[in-house]
Amino acid sequence: MSQEQVKLAVIDNPAFEKQNAKIQQPQRMELLTVLQTTLVLDQLLQLFSREVQQWVPHDGFKYRHETIGLAVQGGRQAHHRCHYTLTMEEQNLGELTLQRRKRFSESELRGLESLLCCLIYPLRNALLYYQALQSAYTDPLTGLYNRTALHSVFQREWKLAQRQKTPLSVLVLDSDYFKQINDNHGHAAGDAALIKIAHCLEQTVRASDIIFRYGGEEFVILLNNTPAEGGYLLAERVRRAIQDIDCSDIAPDLRITMSIGVAVLNHSEETPEQLLKRADDALYRAKRQGRDRVVVA
Ligand code: GH3
Ligand code: MG
Ligand code: MG
Repeated sequence: MSQEQVKLAVIDNPAFEKQNAKIQQPQRMELLTVLQTTLVLDQLLQLFSREVQQWVPHDGFKYRHETIGLAVQGGRQAHHRCHYTLTMEEQNLGELTLQRRKRFSESELRGLESLLCCLIYPLRNALLYYQALQSAYTDPLTGLYNRTALHSVFQREWKLAQRQKTPLSVLVLDSDYFKQINDNHGHAAGDAALIKIAHCLEQTVRASDIIFRYGGEEFVILLNNTPAEGGYLLAERVRRAIQDIDCSDIAPDLRITMSIGVAVLNHSEETPEQLLKRADDALYRAKRQGRDRVVVA
Protein backbone atom coordinates (compact mmCIF):
# COMPACT_ATOMS: atom_id res chain seq x y z
CA MET A 1 0.00 0.00 0.00
CA SER A 2 1.35 3.43 -0.82
CA GLN A 3 1.69 6.12 1.76
CA GLU A 4 0.70 9.73 1.30
CA GLN A 5 1.44 12.08 4.15
CA VAL A 6 0.36 15.65 4.09
CA LYS A 7 2.20 18.02 6.37
CA LEU A 8 2.06 21.71 6.90
CA ALA A 9 5.50 22.98 7.69
CA VAL A 10 5.38 26.38 9.36
CA ILE A 11 9.08 26.81 9.56
CA ASP A 12 9.42 30.21 11.21
CA ASN A 13 7.97 28.83 14.44
CA PRO A 14 10.74 28.23 17.06
CA ALA A 15 8.64 25.59 18.88
CA PHE A 16 8.45 23.64 15.65
CA GLU A 17 12.21 23.77 15.28
CA LYS A 18 12.74 22.63 18.86
CA GLN A 19 10.49 19.63 18.65
CA ASN A 20 12.21 18.62 15.43
CA ALA A 21 15.75 19.10 16.62
CA LYS A 22 16.52 15.46 15.96
CA ILE A 23 19.27 16.29 13.51
CA GLN A 24 22.09 18.03 15.30
CA GLN A 25 22.77 21.75 14.97
CA PRO A 26 26.25 21.39 13.30
CA GLN A 27 24.73 19.12 10.64
CA ARG A 28 21.99 21.60 10.00
CA MET A 29 24.50 24.45 9.79
CA GLU A 30 26.43 22.41 7.25
CA LEU A 31 23.30 21.83 5.19
CA LEU A 32 22.41 25.52 5.37
CA THR A 33 25.90 26.46 4.16
CA VAL A 34 25.51 24.18 1.14
CA LEU A 35 22.03 25.50 0.35
CA GLN A 36 23.25 29.07 0.49
CA THR A 37 25.60 28.45 -2.43
CA THR A 38 22.88 29.00 -5.02
CA LEU A 39 19.92 31.23 -5.79
CA VAL A 40 18.85 29.12 -8.74
CA LEU A 41 15.73 27.23 -7.74
CA ASP A 42 16.36 23.99 -9.69
CA GLN A 43 19.89 23.78 -8.33
CA LEU A 44 18.73 24.53 -4.79
CA LEU A 45 16.17 21.72 -4.82
CA GLN A 46 18.64 19.29 -6.38
CA LEU A 47 21.17 20.17 -3.68
CA PHE A 48 18.61 19.76 -0.91
CA SER A 49 17.57 16.37 -2.27
CA ARG A 50 21.20 15.26 -2.57
CA GLU A 51 22.21 16.46 0.90
CA VAL A 52 19.27 14.96 2.80
CA GLN A 53 19.88 11.53 1.23
CA GLN A 54 22.23 10.68 4.12
CA TRP A 55 19.39 11.05 6.68
CA VAL A 56 16.30 10.33 4.60
CA PRO A 57 17.19 8.25 1.52
CA HIS A 58 14.70 8.78 -1.32
CA ASP A 59 14.36 8.08 -5.05
CA GLY A 60 13.03 11.39 -6.25
CA PHE A 61 11.31 14.68 -5.45
CA LYS A 62 8.72 17.00 -6.90
CA TYR A 63 8.33 20.70 -6.20
CA ARG A 64 5.41 22.83 -7.30
CA HIS A 65 4.45 26.46 -6.82
CA GLU A 66 1.06 26.92 -8.36
CA THR A 67 0.75 30.72 -8.11
CA ILE A 68 4.09 31.28 -9.83
CA GLY A 69 3.44 28.41 -12.25
CA LEU A 70 6.61 26.55 -11.36
CA ALA A 71 7.33 22.81 -11.34
CA VAL A 72 10.69 21.13 -10.73
CA GLN A 73 11.39 17.46 -10.33
CA GLY A 74 14.39 15.22 -9.88
CA GLY A 75 15.20 11.53 -9.60
CA ARG A 76 12.56 8.83 -10.05
CA GLN A 77 8.91 8.56 -9.14
CA ALA A 78 7.90 6.04 -6.47
CA HIS A 79 4.81 4.88 -4.54
CA HIS A 80 5.53 6.20 -1.08
CA ARG A 81 5.39 9.93 -0.74
CA CYS A 82 5.72 12.53 1.96
CA HIS A 83 4.28 15.84 1.02
CA TYR A 84 4.94 19.25 2.59
CA THR A 85 3.18 22.53 2.07
CA LEU A 86 5.87 25.09 2.81
CA THR A 87 4.95 28.44 4.29
CA MET A 88 6.78 31.26 6.00
CA GLU A 89 5.02 34.18 7.68
CA GLU A 90 1.89 33.11 5.83
CA GLN A 91 3.76 33.36 2.56
CA ASN A 92 3.23 30.38 0.27
CA LEU A 93 6.60 28.83 -0.63
CA GLY A 94 5.20 25.95 -2.67
CA GLU A 95 4.86 22.22 -2.11
CA LEU A 96 7.60 19.63 -1.85
CA THR A 97 7.13 15.87 -2.15
CA LEU A 98 9.81 13.23 -1.58
CA GLN A 99 9.22 9.77 -3.03
CA ARG A 100 10.64 6.30 -2.59
CA ARG A 101 9.72 2.61 -2.79
CA LYS A 102 9.87 1.98 0.99
CA ARG A 103 7.64 3.61 3.62
CA PHE A 104 9.04 6.65 5.41
CA SER A 105 9.36 5.97 9.14
CA GLU A 106 8.06 8.43 11.74
CA SER A 107 11.59 9.26 12.86
CA GLU A 108 12.69 9.90 9.27
CA LEU A 109 9.75 12.23 8.82
CA ARG A 110 10.68 14.13 11.98
CA GLY A 111 14.25 14.39 10.73
CA LEU A 112 13.07 15.62 7.38
CA GLU A 113 10.95 18.30 9.01
CA SER A 114 13.96 19.56 10.88
CA LEU A 115 15.98 19.62 7.62
CA LEU A 116 13.21 21.55 5.89
CA CYS A 117 13.83 24.37 8.37
CA CYS A 118 17.19 24.85 6.61
CA LEU A 119 15.60 24.93 3.18
CA ILE A 120 13.04 27.57 3.90
CA TYR A 121 15.14 30.80 3.82
CA PRO A 122 17.25 29.79 0.79
CA LEU A 123 13.99 28.74 -0.91
CA ARG A 124 12.36 32.08 -0.20
CA ASN A 125 15.44 33.85 -1.64
CA ALA A 126 15.48 31.59 -4.71
CA LEU A 127 11.80 32.32 -5.35
CA LEU A 128 12.42 36.07 -5.08
CA TYR A 129 15.35 35.73 -7.47
CA TYR A 130 13.25 33.70 -9.90
CA GLN A 131 10.50 36.32 -9.86
CA ALA A 132 12.98 39.16 -10.33
CA LEU A 133 14.50 37.39 -13.33
CA GLN A 134 11.06 36.70 -14.73
CA SER A 135 10.08 40.36 -14.56
CA ALA A 136 13.45 41.54 -15.90
CA TYR A 137 12.93 39.20 -18.86
CA THR A 138 9.28 39.94 -19.53
CA ASP A 139 7.73 42.67 -21.65
CA PRO A 140 4.95 44.16 -19.51
CA LEU A 141 2.62 45.01 -22.42
CA THR A 142 2.51 41.63 -24.16
CA GLY A 143 3.85 39.24 -21.51
CA LEU A 144 6.38 37.95 -24.06
CA TYR A 145 10.10 37.68 -23.37
CA ASN A 146 11.87 40.99 -23.94
CA ARG A 147 15.11 42.00 -25.62
CA THR A 148 17.19 41.31 -22.49
CA ALA A 149 15.89 37.74 -22.45
CA LEU A 150 16.70 37.34 -26.16
CA HIS A 151 20.36 37.90 -25.49
CA SER A 152 20.76 35.07 -22.99
CA VAL A 153 18.26 32.67 -24.57
CA PHE A 154 19.87 33.15 -27.98
CA GLN A 155 23.31 32.31 -26.55
CA ARG A 156 21.91 29.14 -24.98
CA GLU A 157 20.09 28.00 -28.15
CA TRP A 158 23.11 28.83 -30.29
CA LYS A 159 25.45 26.75 -28.10
CA LEU A 160 22.98 23.86 -28.12
CA ALA A 161 22.66 23.99 -31.92
CA GLN A 162 26.46 24.06 -32.30
CA ARG A 163 27.01 21.18 -29.92
CA GLN A 164 24.28 18.96 -31.32
CA LYS A 165 24.80 20.08 -34.94
CA THR A 166 21.11 20.89 -35.27
CA PRO A 167 19.68 23.67 -37.46
CA LEU A 168 18.59 26.90 -35.76
CA SER A 169 16.29 29.33 -37.59
CA VAL A 170 15.55 32.91 -36.65
CA LEU A 171 12.57 35.01 -37.71
CA VAL A 172 12.62 38.81 -37.37
CA LEU A 173 9.17 40.32 -37.74
CA ASP A 174 8.16 43.98 -38.09
CA SER A 175 4.60 45.33 -38.28
CA ASP A 176 3.94 47.24 -41.48
CA TYR A 177 3.08 50.96 -41.28
CA PHE A 178 2.49 50.65 -37.56
CA LYS A 179 2.97 54.37 -37.08
CA GLN A 180 -0.22 54.90 -39.10
CA ILE A 181 -2.17 52.75 -36.64
CA ASN A 182 -1.13 55.10 -33.84
CA ASP A 183 -1.70 58.18 -35.99
CA ASN A 184 -5.14 57.11 -37.21
CA HIS A 185 -6.54 55.36 -34.15
CA GLY A 186 -4.47 56.55 -31.18
CA HIS A 187 -1.71 55.04 -29.09
CA ALA A 188 -4.09 52.87 -27.02
CA ALA A 189 -5.31 51.24 -30.24
CA GLY A 190 -1.65 50.63 -31.17
CA ASP A 191 -1.07 48.97 -27.80
CA ALA A 192 -4.17 46.81 -28.22
CA ALA A 193 -2.94 45.77 -31.68
CA LEU A 194 0.46 44.78 -30.24
CA ILE A 195 -1.27 42.58 -27.66
CA LYS A 196 -3.29 40.90 -30.44
CA ILE A 197 -0.10 40.33 -32.45
CA ALA A 198 1.55 38.71 -29.43
CA HIS A 199 -1.44 36.38 -28.86
CA CYS A 200 -1.53 35.48 -32.52
CA LEU A 201 2.20 34.58 -32.49
CA GLU A 202 1.74 32.43 -29.37
CA GLN A 203 -1.18 30.61 -30.99
CA THR A 204 0.62 30.03 -34.28
CA VAL A 205 4.10 28.81 -33.33
CA ARG A 206 5.05 25.45 -31.82
CA ALA A 207 5.61 25.00 -28.09
CA SER A 208 9.37 24.71 -28.63
CA ASP A 209 9.59 28.03 -30.51
CA ILE A 210 10.53 31.05 -28.38
CA ILE A 211 8.98 34.47 -29.04
CA PHE A 212 10.46 37.83 -28.01
CA ARG A 213 9.25 41.40 -28.31
CA TYR A 214 12.47 42.82 -29.67
CA GLY A 215 11.49 46.48 -29.86
CA GLY A 216 8.37 48.63 -30.30
CA GLU A 217 6.56 46.74 -33.08
CA GLU A 218 9.32 44.22 -33.80
CA PHE A 219 9.43 40.61 -32.73
CA VAL A 220 11.95 37.78 -32.93
CA ILE A 221 11.17 34.06 -32.95
CA LEU A 222 13.86 31.40 -32.36
CA LEU A 223 13.09 28.04 -33.94
CA ASN A 224 15.38 25.35 -32.60
CA ASN A 225 15.89 22.19 -34.63
CA THR A 226 14.40 23.89 -37.69
CA PRO A 227 16.06 24.15 -41.12
CA ALA A 228 15.43 26.96 -43.64
CA GLU A 229 12.36 25.34 -45.31
CA GLY A 230 10.68 24.83 -41.92
CA GLY A 231 11.53 28.42 -40.97
CA TYR A 232 10.03 29.71 -44.20
CA LEU A 233 6.84 27.63 -43.78
CA LEU A 234 6.36 28.84 -40.23
CA ALA A 235 7.00 32.45 -41.27
CA GLU A 236 4.33 32.15 -43.99
CA ARG A 237 1.89 30.61 -41.52
CA VAL A 238 2.55 33.49 -39.10
CA ARG A 239 2.20 36.10 -41.85
CA ARG A 240 -1.22 34.75 -42.89
CA ALA A 241 -2.40 34.39 -39.28
CA ILE A 242 -1.47 38.04 -38.65
CA GLN A 243 -3.46 39.10 -41.75
CA ASP A 244 -6.45 37.24 -40.34
CA ILE A 245 -6.44 38.93 -36.93
CA ASP A 246 -9.85 40.42 -36.23
CA CYS A 247 -9.26 44.00 -35.04
CA SER A 248 -12.88 45.16 -35.38
CA ASP A 249 -13.10 45.70 -31.61
CA ILE A 250 -10.20 48.19 -31.83
CA ALA A 251 -11.33 50.06 -34.98
CA PRO A 252 -13.61 48.86 -37.85
CA ASP A 253 -11.09 49.48 -40.63
CA LEU A 254 -7.94 48.36 -38.78
CA ARG A 255 -5.80 45.75 -40.54
CA ILE A 256 -2.41 44.42 -39.45
CA THR A 257 0.26 42.95 -41.68
CA MET A 258 3.86 42.00 -41.01
CA SER A 259 7.07 41.65 -42.95
CA ILE A 260 9.33 38.78 -41.93
CA GLY A 261 13.01 37.99 -42.47
CA VAL A 262 14.23 34.40 -42.00
CA ALA A 263 17.80 33.13 -41.59
CA VAL A 264 19.22 29.76 -40.59
CA LEU A 265 22.46 29.38 -38.63
CA ASN A 266 25.60 28.78 -40.63
CA HIS A 267 27.33 26.40 -38.22
CA SER A 268 30.88 26.88 -39.43
CA GLU A 269 31.35 30.54 -38.67
CA GLU A 270 28.32 32.47 -37.48
CA THR A 271 27.74 34.19 -34.11
CA PRO A 272 24.20 34.84 -32.78
CA GLU A 273 24.64 38.54 -33.61
CA GLN A 274 25.61 37.79 -37.22
CA LEU A 275 22.68 35.40 -37.61
CA LEU A 276 20.27 38.01 -36.26
CA LYS A 277 21.78 40.63 -38.58
CA ARG A 278 21.18 38.39 -41.63
CA ALA A 279 17.55 37.83 -40.60
CA ASP A 280 17.19 41.59 -40.10
CA ASP A 281 18.67 42.30 -43.55
CA ALA A 282 16.16 39.84 -45.05
CA LEU A 283 13.38 41.70 -43.21
CA TYR A 284 14.45 44.99 -44.77
CA ARG A 285 14.42 43.36 -48.20
CA ALA A 286 10.83 42.25 -47.45
CA LYS A 287 10.00 45.87 -46.59
CA ARG A 288 11.59 47.20 -49.77
CA GLN A 289 9.83 44.59 -51.89
CA GLY A 290 6.45 45.90 -50.75
CA ARG A 291 5.85 44.57 -47.16
CA ASP A 292 3.45 41.81 -45.98
CA ARG A 293 5.86 39.14 -47.18
CA VAL A 294 8.56 36.68 -46.11
CA VAL A 295 12.16 36.86 -47.37
CA VAL A 296 14.75 34.18 -46.62
CA ALA A 297 18.37 35.34 -46.20
P1 GH3 B 1 7.37 50.04 -41.58
O1 GH3 B 1 6.39 49.34 -42.39
O2 GH3 B 1 8.47 50.62 -42.39
O3 GH3 B 1 7.89 49.21 -40.45
O4 GH3 B 1 6.61 51.31 -40.95
P2 GH3 B 1 6.29 51.60 -39.44
O5 GH3 B 1 5.35 52.74 -39.37
O6 GH3 B 1 5.85 50.36 -38.75
O7 GH3 B 1 7.72 51.93 -38.87
P3 GH3 B 1 8.25 53.10 -38.01
O8 GH3 B 1 9.57 52.61 -37.47
O9 GH3 B 1 8.26 54.38 -38.76
O10 GH3 B 1 7.23 53.23 -36.82
C1 GH3 B 1 7.07 52.31 -35.81
C2 GH3 B 1 5.95 52.76 -34.96
O11 GH3 B 1 5.65 51.85 -33.90
C3 GH3 B 1 6.21 54.10 -34.32
C4 GH3 B 1 5.95 53.89 -32.85
O12 GH3 B 1 5.22 54.94 -32.30
C5 GH3 B 1 5.14 52.62 -32.82
N1 GH3 B 1 5.35 51.91 -31.59
C6 GH3 B 1 6.49 51.36 -31.10
N2 GH3 B 1 6.27 50.84 -29.88
C7 GH3 B 1 4.97 51.05 -29.57
C8 GH3 B 1 4.15 50.74 -28.43
O13 GH3 B 1 4.58 50.14 -27.45
N3 GH3 B 1 2.85 51.12 -28.47
C9 GH3 B 1 2.35 51.76 -29.55
N4 GH3 B 1 1.06 52.10 -29.53
N5 GH3 B 1 3.09 52.09 -30.62
C10 GH3 B 1 4.38 51.73 -30.65
MG1 MG C 1 10.18 48.79 -36.70
MG1 MG D 1 7.16 48.69 -38.62
